[in-house]
Amino acid sequence: MNVVANYLNFIGGEWVSASSGETHEHFNPAKPSESIGFTTVSTVGDVEKAVEAAKSAAAGWKAMSSVNRGEILRKAADILEERADDIAKTATQEMGKRFIETKGEALRGASILRYYAQEGMRKKGEVLPSAANGTTLLAVRVPVGVVAAITPWNFPIAIPIWKIAPALVFGNPVVWKPGQETGITAAKVTKVFEDAGLPAGVLNLVLGRGSVVGDVLTTHKDVAAVTFTGSNAVGQNIAKLATEHGKKFQLELGGKNPAVVLEDANLDLAARLVVEGAMKQTGQRCTATSRAYVEASIYDEFVEKVIENAKQITIGDGLQDGITMGPVASKKQFDTVTGYIQKGKDEGAELLYGGSTLDIDGGYYIEPTIFGNATHEMTIVNEEIFGPVVALMKVADYNEALEKANNTIYGLSAAVFTDSLEKAFHFMENSEVGMVQINGETGGAEPQAPFGGTKASGQGPKEQGQSAAEFFTTNKTVTINPFTK
Ligand code: NDP
Repeated sequence: MNVVANYLNFIGGEWVSASSGETHEHFNPAKPSESIGFTTVSTVGDVEKAVEAAKSAAAGWKAMSSVNRGEILRKAADILEERADDIAKTATQEMGKRFIETKGEALRGASILRYYAQEGMRKKGEVLPSAANGTTLLAVRVPVGVVAAITPWNFPIAIPIWKIAPALVFGNPVVWKPGQETGITAAKVTKVFEDAGLPAGVLNLVLGRGSVVGDVLTTHKDVAAVTFTGSNAVGQNIAKLATEHGKKFQLELGGKNPAVVLEDANLDLAARLVVEGAMKQTGQRCTATSRAYVEASIYDEFVEKVIENAKQITIGDGLQDGITMGPVASKKQFDTVTGYIQKGKDEGAELLYGGSTLDIDGGYYIEPTIFGNATHEMTIVNEEIFGPVVALMKVADYNEALEKANNTIYGLSAAVFTDSLEKAFHFMENSEVGMVQINGETGGAEPQAPFGGTKASGQGPKEQGQSAAEFFTTNKTVTINPFTK
């Protein structure tokens, strides 16, 4: 057994074991017999200590100028870049995503940090006209207070950073609970902030199980706001608790993202991007393409091209060169995804490609799976699978495709492939999602652009870009009357 270390909580600037004394062992999903290390397992009491530490650090952090706060983020970006290979390797070993993807995520984390470092130099309010003569009226953005950040395992570097970086630059201390399966990566990301010179207590890491510590993080009297990315079930519980306890909340939840492929599209491009959109990160992205609506006149040709693309995928340990798809993240994901594939078969979808599991070192490998002639009655068309599975459907025309693309509880992202400006603009206006791609794959995010969905895919202000200020600050209106005599 190759046990490398025991990773601890980071509370009030100290690395400390959880009071439970319990540890969680991490195994490599590409080779489940390989132990990666241990993480401490927090109790409610540990979270209370972390919130206390954050509360104690709040005034000092708020008093530091946002320019200087941004300077710490800039240092963190440099350190993250220097350590990108090590952190990416750890993330790959913890959750199976290919090294090229985890490295890309680390570098993206660095650009998110730089973007928000710069935010510290941008305006923090507005001067408004007042009806009273001689009076200055200001609307000033101020920190919300202690932020709880609850993040998933699927983007273990970038998602936490796109919550933590804006929280910090806008003057809020943070208590961060990462996905338990990626706790080692989280400890390494936290160390980056420590080494960048973040004052003690400003960022606190609590490792452990969300089912144990999630409620207290959401309801604690000293937590002002909760930002969450993950499943709809957990998100809805957080929304309920946060509402009952008067907390601000922001939820980024699941997706069932459609691609619409029209007869005037570049079919080579569309087939490549539908397959990439579905299979990148082994389909474990909230923005993954999971349904494609294809005009009947080009359906057969499109199917052929999709299969050709799927055949190019090479499966294996994401640390190896030349691999284009790693395992799914865990046994739990393996069971869930294979369960959905079985449902697809049972409910009568046509299995066009893949559909089987692969035994490589006992890892959690699933073939890229393409279903055809799927219908809206099928489970695989309605539920988020979070695995390398896409369902293709034949439609008569654009109108049917749009109507079906919108026929879902989710509203995260959607793509249309067409050369028609008219249809592209119509889709942009009428697709019921937070993010639209014209001739692009459904995934993808840039630090300067708002990220998030509508309908069941999200609640609260969007993440990233300037939208982050809406969640991580509150507006204070200040009236200044300088003439007192
Ligand atoms: P969860 O929603 O369970 O996990 C996300 C985060 O929430 C983790 O940090 C988790 O901790 C924490 N958590 C778990 N239970 C609670 C709770 N009661 N209160 C507060 N926080 C909690 O997602 P899973 O990792 O279990 O994945 C299940 C499915 O969710 C996936 O198959 C996928 O469909 C969807 N998902 C969507 C994501 C997205 O990007 N929109 C990301 C991840 C998952 P812990 O890890 O300790 O359980």
